[in-house]
Amino acid sequence: MQIDYEIKLGYDDVMIRPKRSKTASRQLVDLTRTYIGLNSGQKISGVPIIAANMDTVGTMEMAMSLAKHQMFTCLHKFYDSEELIKFWGDNPASDYTFYTTGITSQDLKKLKFIQGSGIKIKNICVDVANGYTEVFQNKVKEIRNAFPDSLIMAGNVVTPEMVQELLISGAADIIKVGIGPGSVCNTRIVAGVGYPQLSAVIECAEAAHGLGGLICADGGCREPHHINKAFGGGADFVMLGGKFAGCDECGGEWSYSESGEKKSLKFYGMSSKEAMTKYNGGMASYRASEGACIEVPYKGPVQDTVEYILGGLRSACSYVGAKKLKDLSKCTTFVRCTSIK
Ligand code: 5GP
Repeated sequence: MQIDYEIKLGYDDVMIRPKRSKTASRQLVDLTRTYIGLNSGQKISGVPIIAANMDTVGTMEMAMSLAKHQMFTCLHKFYDSEELIKFWGDNPASDYTFYTTGITSQDLKKLKFIQGSGIKIKNICVDVANGYTEVFQNKVKEIRNAFPDSLIMAGNVVTPEMVQELLISGAADIIKVGIGPGSVCNTRIVAGVGYPQLSAVIECAEAAHGLGGLICADGGCREPHHINKAFGGGADFVMLGGKFAGCDECGGEWSYSESGEKKSLKFYGMSSKEAMTKYNGGMASYRASEGACIEVPYKGPVQDTVEYILGGLRSACSYVGAKKLKDLSKCTTFVRCTSIK
């Protein structure tokens, strides 16, 4: 047994220190980024915020709306092949979507079928709860071999050595970082496993950037300041689940008021009992539910949430003198604090 005594930080343990700035107006801050995948050479451009591949949030409707803002959606993996092929046919939102796959033989069969349909899958997200297994690393490499030109995002992990392993041996382009910070995630409660998210982002970003790779900070961004801190800490992309849950573009079970208006949405983790029951016919007896189920209030069209988030991000950039999102990390000094208010 070993204990790491160095204090690791979550988003709420810091604030961003303001700095003398020449950025005249936050309106002028450029939030778009262009990256080239380390192993694919594939280019990706846009505002690097991604809707999570949860079945309520990673919907085609979400992808259509977010694409208008040059933002991304990781489509959930429960769409059948025909629906996906039809969606990608001639849809301008395609460039702003990721195809999600797990690593079971069924997942890989579906991926091959879609590949065989002639539709070009530009961006692929290989997603498992625990990215530390050897089998995961091997499957990522297998997918890379089958899709040499696709941008591959793989995860989740939280430590630099595994980021490097997945970039080098797995040949992924973007590593998804986050174990346990999600708004409907119970892993830290059930398993006690995780890593404070801001430190995970800072350490993993440094490891990835040293090799020319990218990271996506996944989970725990409940408010705009969490997103700003993720980018300030070096994240290249930020993935959001709960923040987009409850918007019009979400799928799932809505509750309605007596007058028939949307009141709330049932939002659950993809490892929750609810999700397992819906997609796997129940929880295996050897597993504990690692996801919660909550009701989130109705939030209106996702555009409102997008404007709120991007307004906060522009504000953070202007406070530290970053003319572009690209400069935010360079311009960021975090102040350790005991409370954010
Ligand atoms: P949020 O933005 O809601 O804080 O976090 C979204 C992320 O939570 C997802 O992208 C995914 O990585 C993670 N997540 C989703 N469902 C579950 C779950 O049931 N269990 C765990 N451990 N994580 C989950």
